[in-house]
Amino acid sequence: MRPDLLRRLSLLAVLTAALGCADRDPVPGVALELAEHRARTIRDLRYDLHFDIPASKDSAVTGDVEIGFTLVEGGHPLVLDFRAPAEHLLELRLDGAVVEPRLVPDHIVLPAKLLPEGAHTLQLRFRSTDAALNRNAEYLYALFVPDRASTAFPVFEQPDLKARYRVSLTVPAEWNALSNGALVSRDSSAGDRHLLRFAETQPISSYLMAFAAGKLFEEQATRGGRTFTMYHRETDSARVRRNAAAIFDLHASALAWLEAYTGIAYPFEKFDFFAVPAFQFGGMEHPGAVWYRAGSLFLEESAGRTQELGRASLIAHETAHMWFGDLVTMRWFNDVWMKEVFANFMAAKIVAPSFPDIDQRLRFFQAHHPAAYAVDRTRGANPIRQPLENLREAGSLYGAIIYQKAPIVMQQLEQMVGDSTFQRGLQLYLDRHRYGNADWPSLVSLLDSLSPVDVTAWSKVWVEEPGRPTITAWADSAQLYITQDDTWPGRQLSWPQQLEFALISDTAVVLLRGLSSPQSARLPLPVLRGTPQIILGGSDGLSYARFALDSASRRALLERIHSLPQPLHRAVAWQTLQEELIAGTLEPLALLDATRRAVEVERDELLLSQVLGLLRFTYWSFLDDSTRTSVAPAVEATLWTALNRASGAGRKGVLFSALQSTTLSAEGIARLETIWRDRKPPAGLPLSETQYTALAEAIALRGVPNAAQILDEEFTRISNSDRKSRFAFVRPALDADVAVRERFFASLREVKNRRQESWVLDAMGYLNHPLRADAALPLLRPSLELVQEIQQTGDIFFPLRWMNAVLDGHRSSAAADTLQRFLDTHPDYPPRLRGKMLQAGDLLLRRRAP
Ligand SMILES: [Zn+2]
Repeated sequence: MRPDLLRRLSLLAVLTAALGCADRDPVPGVALELAEHRARTIRDLRYDLHFDIPASKDSAVTGDVEIGFTLVEGGHPLVLDFRAPAEHLLELRLDGAVVEPRLVPDHIVLPAKLLPEGAHTLQLRFRSTDAALNRNAEYLYALFVPDRASTAFPVFEQPDLKARYRVSLTVPAEWNALSNGALVSRDSSAGDRHLLRFAETQPISSYLMAFAAGKLFEEQATRGGRTFTMYHRETDSARVRRNAAAIFDLHASALAWLEAYTGIAYPFEKFDFFAVPAFQFGGMEHPGAVWYRAGSLFLEESAGRTQELGRASLIAHETAHMWFGDLVTMRWFNDVWMKEVFANFMAAKIVAPSFPDIDQRLRFFQAHHPAAYAVDRTRGANPIRQPLENLREAGSLYGAIIYQKAPIVMQQLEQMVGDSTFQRGLQLYLDRHRYGNADWPSLVSLLDSLSPVDVTAWSKVWVEEPGRPTITAWADSAQLYITQDDTWPGRQLSWPQQLEFALISDTAVVLLRGLSSPQSARLPLPVLRGTPQIILGGSDGLSYARFALDSASRRALLERIHSLPQPLHRAVAWQTLQEELIAGTLEPLALLDATRRAVEVERDELLLSQVLGLLRFTYWSFLDDSTRTSVAPAVEATLWTALNRASGAGRKGVLFSALQSTTLSAEGIARLETIWRDRKPPAGLPLSETQYTALAEAIALRGVPNAAQILDEEFTRISNSDRKSRFAFVRPALDADVAVRERFFASLREVKNRRQESWVLDAMGYLNHPLRADAALPLLRPSLELVQEIQQTGDIFFPLRWMNAVLDGHRSSAAADTLQRFLDTHPDYPPRLRGKMLQAGDLLLRRRAP
């Protein structure tokens, strides 16, 4: 909602309050209390919903809706949600009669006297706001999660009022469209405007209702008797051809796997999806109409196994949601983590058989632990399950704790109760609540009834509390000693979990397992020759803790890491070293040298990606400018040598993107510029239009004298209209002139200039890039000031990603002070948003003198 609109509606609220209304007005947003009342009193909800979509994105979308429902308890005012200015409500009829409703912020209120127990029908005509319609020149798509359906039409907006939706759309004749239900008719009798009708849906939550329309290409395929339709706007037909079969195959195999695991056939009628250009999420699981980021489906020719695995996981994730989230939905958004954990958890299981060549435990560790630790090591860490008073705040629940930590702890829970008990519990849970809602305690008590494990006690520590244990281990010749510490202020938790340690000596790697808790434990050592040189905690890739190293282990690990025989152990070891770097107990240059050596010798592609990520992290976040400049030529040489030797486009691709990120020497930049200018990539590494654009942007960022000319030419080279629009948007953020960049930033104060969130994030990343951090310092505070408004106007991931884009590039003490001052001068800042800021600013705040 726009701030000007907020002011107007609050004024209206003051007026109605002054008139002395008998019933207490609902607060803005959807309060838990309101949701509980409606869930108790409303049944049999149906929407017959029509939108009239004009060709021009500057003309308003209008619509009408008929809402049928039954009240099981009469005599209360009825509160409908509509987050739009008062004049957007054009007409309202209740049971056929025109009614003048009371309008309060975010709501339409109907008087109790008109609402006895029984069946009712509401008919409304309205004008939508554009807030959740993602309108572009040639297409639009609705994205209502978590509470934005009410910005487009009047609705009872809460997950546990599931409804059947019958959608119809009037669109320009040359457009097509999709929605949750199958297309049942297309009426072209009105000439240039076509009416498309879609079948009524199964009962679904309002955040899962969706439609998209525009000039869209269609690809269809049949797999296992089921027809899938993919909609997209990719003009590079070779790129589509190269990827289409795999995309359809992955969907079909994920569906088959889930039907077998859950024992429930695919619960919705059809399965279509839209590859949205620059989509703000990876994907969104609307049943029958999934949205994906196009770039995540259509892989580059140079994509390696990591990207292939990423795509398979994304598709499996959204497909798993059809059962976990769509068929059975959380009662309230405090349990939004449940649908995400099961989607990720199932995705990890689903992709495994399709990638027999990939070490799945390694992959699970890489996909979860680093991102979860990045939050849990900070003072802004949040528990997996958080209370939520108002749906308006739901966006602030999302993050790595939900997406990455929760699957780890769920895997630990599965390990404790056993695979088959766990699966049985989930099957019962899905079956009991199908097309309905359920909360976490109901699953906990179900699992408790099936297993001797105390799942309730386990959940209290792992699900309801933030942070992680710090585990220290040491050994003498007979025993391994483990202590567990809680570094969270004012708390002494003990985390029950299965722990594994790798005891690494000159001659062998020995694994030792044990259950942690109580606080300290002793495990008898198997017969070793001498004490181990390195004790690597969490070597199973599942244990979750900060495993602190002593200085001897740290030194030994830096030396030996390259020769550890197990790839999983190397992955865990690199993460352990990264923790040491962040804790300030490891010299950045020592770690940088170790990663350079790994670039030369590492054979595993997943490991190479992790090592290159760590190299870049150390290089940009831990070296000062002069050290970085002085080591750049050596880093570039290492990467070029490895690139030339590498076999396979995948390996070459990750090395090239590391080069594009780290190159600072004049010769290195000239070399990249030649590749860009002549469109002549290194042998064996095909580059796409998107990749050439990224290269041009990287070169311009380095302040070459002909940057403007390079950007001009790149603009003319881009053929795809969506990519051209993005480039035009981002370009001022790359300008050599600070004044141009500041003007661009100023334009982002207007919400309409922040609608394309992925473009905004690219641009903010460039403005605040380490190479330009000094010039961006004056923008830091204003960027932080915008966060609260961004939370109100943007989609769920935008606030944290904005903060990361702003803060990641800064490492100066002046920047750290600015952030600390911002936090100090906003003591009443919303706690969850403050937590996110502490997460995003963690590295920066650690740099401040204590
Ligand atoms: Zn999800």
